[in-house]
Amino acid sequence: MSQDVTNQESSSEDGSPSALGEESTSPLEDESTSPLEDESIPAIEVESVTKRYHGAETVTALDDVSLSVGRGEFVAVVGPSGSGKSTMLNVLGLLDGPTEGTVRLSGTDVTDRSPAELTDLRREYVGFVFQDFHLLPTLTAVENVTLPTAFEPGNVSDRAVSLLRQVGLGDRLEHTPDELSGGQKQRVAIARALINEPAVVLADEPTGNLDRDTGTTILETFSAICDRGVALIAVTHDELVTTYADRTVRLVDGELSSGERGGSGYAT
Ligand code: ADP
Repeated sequence: MSQDVTNQESSSEDGSPSALGEESTSPLEDESTSPLEDESIPAIEVESVTKRYHGAETVTALDDVSLSVGRGEFVAVVGPSGSGKSTMLNVLGLLDGPTEGTVRLSGTDVTDRSPAELTDLRREYVGFVFQDFHLLPTLTAVENVTLPTAFEPGNVSDRAVSLLRQVGLGDRLEHTPDELSGGQKQRVAIARALINEPAVVLADEPTGNLDRDTGTTILETFSAICDRGVALIAVTHDELVTTYADRTVRLVDGELSSGERGGSGYAT
């Protein structure tokens, strides 16, 4: 299955997501250079990001966190419950802004974009994969994959079918989620995350509901996605994920320890 993803009929010559190479109608196009085509520029980065929640008492969920993830890199984020992992994913996914610090997408500062602009940026540049798959139960696999494009012109069914074939689900195109195994559902979710050819895929406990063998298949698919130049960040408790990641970083009380290259090693 992973080979299928790697060998997909990509819409750009070098196999990279076309959103990175498009020169028109890009929400990032106002930059003077062409950061989307420069591979040395991280796909996504947060710099000195602090996130505070103000309630009865103030909680510092992220404390001066910096993380830079390059194109094609697979980073695992680990840490105990309450350490800030969800907050980190929300900030990286442009779902929530930092209290302080900077968020850059392909080198462009997007910290202070309007909610409408952030929605556009999310749709074009970020794909999400969740522990519980988040598939709509009444829709077929193809329909679920096309969902993020529902308000765009053109017929994207062919692309959805192609992506489903690439993740090994060519014989499950018209199945609804209740007719699919957990691993198959997660592969539909991965195809859905890729439908807009994102620069970044964010995964929240992607193997949390899967047995080890199925989890391995999903992680091999992730590796193949990274081989195409997509940056992948997975928040996880699963050691297996860290063995597939290029780098593992650890959050403790909102502070990030930088990780080492390869395997599950990380500085504490
Ligand atoms: P994790 O995903 O690692 O469990 P979270 O990012 O969910 O951690 O939470 C980090 C800290 O921020 C926790 O102390 C949590 O209680 C707090 N927190 C998270 N979201 C909110 C919120 N919306 N309002 C107030 N506190 C929050």
